[in-house]
Amino acid sequence: MAEKTLQAVLNRLYEADVPDKADIEYGLSLQDPAQMGELFAFADEIRRRHVGNGILLRGIIEFSNYCSNTCEYCGLNKTNTNLTRYKLTDKQILNCIEQIANSGIGTVVLQSGEQTDLDAYWLAGIIREIKTRFDIAITLSVGERPFDDYALWKEAGADRYLLKIETTNRQLYQKLHPQMSFDNRLKCSKDLGILGYQNGSGNIIGLPGQTISDIAGDILFFAGERFDMIGIGPFIPHPATALSDCPSGDVEMVLKTIAVTRIITKDAHLPATTAIGSLNGNDHRPAALTAGANVLMPNFTPQPWRQLYEIYPGKRCSTEAPGTCGPCIDIMADTIGRTIDLSRGDSLKKKRKECA
Ligand code: SAH
Repeated sequence: MAEKTLQAVLNRLYEADVPDKADIEYGLSLQDPAQMGELFAFADEIRRRHVGNGILLRGIIEFSNYCSNTCEYCGLNKTNTNLTRYKLTDKQILNCIEQIANSGIGTVVLQSGEQTDLDAYWLAGIIREIKTRFDIAITLSVGERPFDDYALWKEAGADRYLLKIETTNRQLYQKLHPQMSFDNRLKCSKDLGILGYQNGSGNIIGLPGQTISDIAGDILFFAGERFDMIGIGPFIPHPATALSDCPSGDVEMVLKTIAVTRIITKDAHLPATTAIGSLNGNDHRPAALTAGANVLMPNFTPQPWRQLYEIYPGKRCSTEAPGTCGPCIDIMADTIGRTIDLSRGDSLKKKRKECA
């Protein structure tokens, strides 16, 4: 039987081509603070070795909160009729991009709710305009779309796409997304890879009914698909959803998931998500950055709309003005002995493939 000392498990997770699910579950089940500290330190060292000391920045613009979906955890879901809906104008979006570019940040993330009637040609036009005017990488995050829309946007100049699988437990997925299809989400994720996007996935930790085995399955999925970016964040209950009374995800489980994911995926880009910066009013992003994460996503959505992009309550900095993240991020990096990296921060996996 394989040795079960923590160091032996960590070494195996790092070295295995296909990691053992039992080893992943062992890492995720650690409770002793000293042992968790050992896991985080190991992941931090792998992060340093494979992606370096720079914290990459992605400026996010939440350009619309309209949504046709009914994800049971999300405050934007269409059954939340109390939420005022908005969509930024082209000019507002381009102003935000200008602000991001002027801050020296090399990537913009355009995110919105999933709107079936979003005009794919409109978004392609915005992408072209951004690429003409700014030297900046574009990440899209607008949900599930037909292959042809993804192809159109790629052709227009989009570089990356974030589509979190949320959970790889098919039954749990179906329960939480009653009108959606796990198979279609998977298909969309694969289509993005086929089209050559730098491909992002991720999950939510602490979904009601989710087990350690489910989270281990998520990590195996991330590793197997060789995602370029993986966003891992806690579930935060939204009062206007069916899950309003469920407890939040556990911060330590989020950190353990980030750490194990780093050890296994090695050079993927892992954000210290806004959700882990918002859990129970505390900012756990420095903890995430020292447990394997290497990316931060400063918010550039202008007011008053930013407060309306309420996927969960208590979202960090939701009342602040755009462009105010700079000093806060500098202090955070400084405190943990890291630097801010203003490069585009392209996938390290893609670069390696191109060189091969
Ligand atoms: N419409 C896009 C973007 C969704 S919002 C899409 O479908 O991909 C971005 C992410 O917020 C989601 O992928 C989900 O993981 C996260 N999210 C939504 N509600 C949440 C909640 N209550 N707690 C934690 N994360 C949540």
